[in-house]
Amino acid sequence: MAFWPIVIVKMREKLENILEKVYLKPEQADIAYLLSLDDSRQQEEIFVFADKVRKKFVGDGILLRGIIEFSNHCRNSCFYCGLNKNNRKLQRYRLTQEEILRSVKFLAEQKIKTVVLQSGEEDGLDSFWLAEVISRIKREFDLAITLCVGERPQDDYKLWKNSGADRYLLKIETTNEKLYTSLHPQMSFANRLKCLKGLCDLGFQVGSGNIIGLKNQTLADIAQDIIFFKSQDLDMIGIGPFIPHSQTELSGHGHGDVGLTLRTLALTRIVCRNAHIPATTALASLNKDYRLQGLRAGANVLMPNFTPMDYKELYEIYPGKKCLTEFADTCVSCMAQKATAINRYIDYSRGDALEKKVEV
Ligand code: SAH
Repeated sequence: MAFWPIVIVKMREKLENILEKVYLKPEQADIAYLLSLDDSRQQEEIFVFADKVRKKFVGDGILLRGIIEFSNHCRNSCFYCGLNKNNRKLQRYRLTQEEILRSVKFLAEQKIKTVVLQSGEEDGLDSFWLAEVISRIKREFDLAITLCVGERPQDDYKLWKNSGADRYLLKIETTNEKLYTSLHPQMSFANRLKCLKGLCDLGFQVGSGNIIGLKNQTLADIAQDIIFFKSQDLDMIGIGPFIPHSQTELSGHGHGDVGLTLRTLALTRIVCRNAHIPATTALASLNKDYRLQGLRAGANVLMPNFTPMDYKELYEIYPGKKCLTEFADTCVSCMAQKATAINRYIDYSRGDALEKKVEV
């Protein structure tokens, strides 16, 4: 009878030790082991540890990044994404400068200090046109600008940086090169890495991230992704579950596991410490909204959507996207409520990259 509590105490100690070890000296095998723990009690212990690391390194504030999806044109045919060029059912759009500026004004009126300009990877995107959008936003508003428009020549990145862009998001999606190659026809893993390096060299605050639950992805792959995030010293890391879309090669594959996505987020927080990590829209778009769980497992960013109402549903990277019919100001107040519910608050500052501390 007295035996079981002792065993439980030992198991507890062990998990704590491994978490501590991953925090101090992350290794792929330990991370993969922790990723495998789907027992609710053990999982909760990982979340609690991550939440402490979050509190220590980025505090209780939740940063808001307003996103504007300005075009759904794409030249690529990624096996998971609804914007892939072979999806002929999708009506394509590109916002005008005026439409973008109008959304930016609305976003600034909500006191948000970062705009994320996202699109598919489109050949038709004129780099000078985007440079003009960036300059106009910088002239008219006091905002940080994050770009997320995929792989481009270094000269384009330079032009946009010189026009005033502050940050760039380019998700690696998976660091398993073989898996990456199998999901991204005509694309190259080496070029994605080259682009990430080019962005760092230009002085952008750089973000990357992965998708959880891709077909043939292993826990070792995900652990390797986390080690990669650390090695790149990333300022922002986006992690979301895979959500199948009917007009893609992976339409028949099940969605990514929520628990595994949350554990990945938590372990990324433990390993990368002060990076900005969003509770992604993808986490909100499964059977229920899991963003609150994300915020409790290490996340410190939310991304309200400021794409104009008429276009929102056309940016269908996956189906069931959350908050398609709400106006973004409603989303912001809903997010403030979520923050209060977990004793956190919305931080209306720019939320620039934090210095990488060596503190233990
Ligand atoms: N073209 C841009 C932005 C693409 S959309 C770029 O390459 O950076 C933004 C992100 O949505 C992608 O990086 C990918 O991680 C995610 N995404 C696309 N399809 C998805 C799906 N079916 N499930 C989950 N995430 C998806």
